[in-house]
Amino acid sequence: MVGNFSYFPSLLAQNRLHYNGRMPRTILHLDLDAFYCSVEEIQNPQLRGKPFAVGGKPDERGVVASCSYAARALGIRSAMPMSRAIKLCRDLIIVSGRHHLYGEYSQKVMEKLHSLTPLVEQISIDEAFLDISDIQADKPRLALDLQLSIRNELNLPSSVGIASNKLVAKIATEVGKKSSKKKNEPPFGFTVVPTGEEAKFLSPLPADMLWGVGPKTNARLAELGIHTIGDIANWPEKELVNLFGENGRDLWQHAHGIDNRPVSTESETKSISQETTYNVDVSDEKTLEKTLREQSKEVARQLRKNDLAGKTVKVKLRWSDFTTITRQTTLPTSTDNEEEIFQAVVKLMKAVRKPNQPVRLIGVGVSGIGAPVRQLSLWDVGSEKSRKLQEVVDQLQDKYGKSIIKKG
Ligand SMILES: [Mg+2]
Repeated sequence: MVGNFSYFPSLLAQNRLHYNGRMPRTILHLDLDAFYCSVEEIQNPQLRGKPFAVGGKPDERGVVASCSYAARALGIRSAMPMSRAIKLCRDLIIVSGRHHLYGEYSQKVMEKLHSLTPLVEQISIDEAFLDISDIQADKPRLALDLQLSIRNELNLPSSVGIASNKLVAKIATEVGKKSSKKKNEPPFGFTVVPTGEEAKFLSPLPADMLWGVGPKTNARLAELGIHTIGDIANWPEKELVNLFGENGRDLWQHAHGIDNRPVSTESETKSISQETTYNVDVSDEKTLEKTLREQSKEVARQLRKNDLAGKTVKVKLRWSDFTTITRQTTLPTSTDNEEEIFQAVVKLMKAVRKPNQPVRLIGVGVSGIGAPVRQLSLWDVGSEKSRKLQEVVDQLQDKYGKSIIKKG
């Protein structure tokens, strides 16, 4: 079952001594294959090999959160309305999601990763970066053993990418998944990009596989005749900056396979918050909700601007007598989304505030921060698309932003 084993182009070509004079890093990116579906298959082995989807019911405007590889072979995709998915496959089995269970399995996987190194950055429920630079071992062998043990001990298939940085490691994983020729089966991808060959590896890939290239940027690039990452790399950096501002510089760097971001562990947790003190105490719930809405919007904007997302959402309330309370909740996955933050804080406020109780100060905060989650949460229609659009809006609004990142 182990397959789709791709070294690019060959590990033997690796020559670390001549790489830029810097100490090379080794970053491992691991992404579980069709995670929710794999967990459901463990619970109910009869699902194995069948077309099924985890998600909401079609008559309740449900969306596909995850689908089996047999379903993918029929054209069904994540984020697709379930009503459309059942048109593509009349016999599609619909399984409603069980977040709690997925959380438990996710934790088991993350424990395994942490047993290798403390340098683990979890970026979503089923995805993480590991900095394995300092582990004295054959790195691909180590990664393969990890992938196999997750499969054998936890029954979860995954794909792995290894490279000198996070950007390239993550794309390596995606390439491994996409180039799988197996039907009805997880890709179990394994892709190694040797140090020094990052740009060569990225070059033939479509431009929108780079972080920061959303639909809008991609359309603009296409107008310029830029279709692949290599096309971006071939443009002068200066011109890209003229066209896209500071993002142009990132684009150029990323297209050359340059990414110096560290694997950030939870000990470097930050928090982002907003608070408002009213001139006159407010008892009207609508007004309080309006403030929470504005604050959630600003916090989400700051998260996206800094390419971050957080798991813990907090509301702060000060009553007329100056007593101050905070209440917090942990979301199943990290978010940089206004609506998710807003829904969470409204719920927290309602749970603690007596009817008509006057409020002097109100605030919203998000912590447990790391890199953003790029995976759709359950029932979330087109959230990836709207996030990318939101990034464009954010850039326009940038001049209004004030830095409110604090070390926590
Ligand atoms: Mg995954």
